[in-house]
Amino acid sequence: MAKITRGHQPKSTPAIPKSVKKPRDHAAARPKQAKSAKQATAKPGQLRAEKKSIKAIKPWTPAEVREAFSRFRKANPEPKGELEHLNPYTLLVAVVLSAQATDAGVNKATRALFAVADTPQKMLALGEDKVRDYIKTIGLYRNKARNVIALSEKLIAEFGGQVPRTRAELESLPGAGRKTANVVLNMAFGERTMAVDTHVFRVANRTGLAPGNTPLEVELGLERVIPSEFMLHAHHWLILHGRYTCLARSPRCGLCLIHDLCRWPEKTA
Ligand code: SF4
Repeated sequence: MAKITRGHQPKSTPAIPKSVKKPRDHAAARPKQAKSAKQATAKPGQLRAEKKSIKAIKPWTPAEVREAFSRFRKANPEPKGELEHLNPYTLLVAVVLSAQATDAGVNKATRALFAVADTPQKMLALGEDKVRDYIKTIGLYRNKARNVIALSEKLIAEFGGQVPRTRAELESLPGAGRKTANVVLNMAFGERTMAVDTHVFRVANRTGLAPGNTPLEVELGLERVIPSEFMLHAHHWLILHGRYTCLARSPRCGLCLIHDLCRWPEKTA
């Protein structure tokens, strides 16, 4: 079996606290009423208070944005995602499975799954029932198993068994939405895309870097303000910052690399 790829945290990075809730994908789980990424982790009162304070935030200057990302780069020059995968296909499957689930929970299930099925052909040969068994520890596993089989069928029927390299093609796959496409384009194909999950959404709004009411607004805002030299890794720097430092309920402002640049009135450092 090929080597599992996974991200590594800088040694000083603290462990994920139990209070951090899981990120959401936009399409894989097909929730009845999609909440914004921020609503997924904040209480209504907290959300209202943050929104109110965000309104008055002064935009970052280009020099401040450059300074922030220079610090992220210095601290962690090659940030990596934490979803284990073997190739673009297993990355795609892992991202689809990660909707409303933690990366650690997905990795636990996919280690065994990818050991027997690391191509669309092998996944089809395994069949939906067995895929379901492998991923039954992940939320919404029935729907996700159906999507994994359906997307594998589509990859074989329409893309020669390969993961396509355009956003439109990726978004046409069962269970894949804009965030999935952005993660695959960035991690598998090295494109400068910005996938906005709950952590990126919170950091962009709180700090004032790219405030927005929806993940798409934040995505476009971040693409507008982040210099291109940082865009390849910007998604991971922001995700890791939100996951380990700028926590939803108790941000670790005292440990924050960008505390002097952050515009959040409630920051504690
Ligand atoms: S200073 Fe606090 S609120 Fe601001 S980015 Fe850092 S951890 Fe988040």
